[in-house]
Amino acid sequence: MDHKPKADHGFIHIPCNELDIFILSDGYFGIGYHQPILAPDIPQNLVKNELRNLYLSESYFEAPITTMLVRKNDRIILIDTGEGFYDEDNAGKLLHSLTAAGFTPESITDILLTHAHRDHIGGILSKNDEMVFPNAHYYISSQEFEFWMAGEPDFQKSKNPQGGKQSIPIIRKILSTIDSRLTKFEMGDQLFSCIQTMAAPGHTPGHIIYTINDGDLSITNVVDTFHSPLLIAKPDWGTQWDIDFEMAIENRKKVLEHCYKNRTLICSAHLPWPGIGYINKVNDQFQWIPKVYNNPFSINLKIDMEVTSV
Ligand SMILES: [Zn+2]
Repeated sequence: MDHKPKADHGFIHIPCNELDIFILSDGYFGIGYHQPILAPDIPQNLVKNELRNLYLSESYFEAPITTMLVRKNDRIILIDTGEGFYDEDNAGKLLHSLTAAGFTPESITDILLTHAHRDHIGGILSKNDEMVFPNAHYYISSQEFEFWMAGEPDFQKSKNPQGGKQSIPIIRKILSTIDSRLTKFEMGDQLFSCIQTMAAPGHTPGHIIYTINDGDLSITNVVDTFHSPLLIAKPDWGTQWDIDFEMAIENRKKVLEHCYKNRTLICSAHLPWPGIGYINKVNDQFQWIPKVYNNPFSINLKIDMEVTSV
């Protein structure tokens, strides 16, 4: 077949007031069947049943890796950097999406890291250990930095301590390489007068979610608070990726309730692309409602939501 459709732009532009927001794809990851990574302690028939209720695949779990960029006057702020070269088959496409959106790696002035898992910081260094974004200054919560860099990280409250430990060397290498250009902030701080950070611990100790505010517009990125519509419907089924399994459940439920009550427009690192939408509740069960996208010929997604606060 010599028919070659062209579908590789990998980004969405959200025009705001003073700001421009871009949702950028880094590609995706696939882990085969959902369990045991998601819902590790739940009988398989219940999980398959719920996947079926949600019209999700009962045989494989794939999730996008999605990052965000905020342009505010001369600041070009990238939020997370994707997998980098660690999974070149499916991911590491951030530079492609960035270029398509009209930015160069050199133009990035600031990089806000939501937490230090590899699919969020893997794009900082090239295979040859060079800085991919040579002019960027970095930001991470001090809790997150401390957890990975001071003493031995504790994975006792995770459902997969071994997997957690394996990630330490790469994370330490990346964070120590950028340490001289890294600002550690407190969870709850406001950055760049438009990004409100909020503590969302459990997934990692210093995991943040953040809200971009621009006049009467706002969008909250819940990052890794839920990795799939399955964990929105069943927040207490949890995931082995969470360093504190129970705390992550508690926090996930809190964020879901808050977003539902406030009709918060959210986006996320791993919900189905482009991962923009709302949380609804039906018969006491939360439900993912993707935001409608009406013009497939435009890269612009119009938003006109009410202001919400974190
Ligand atoms: Zn992630």
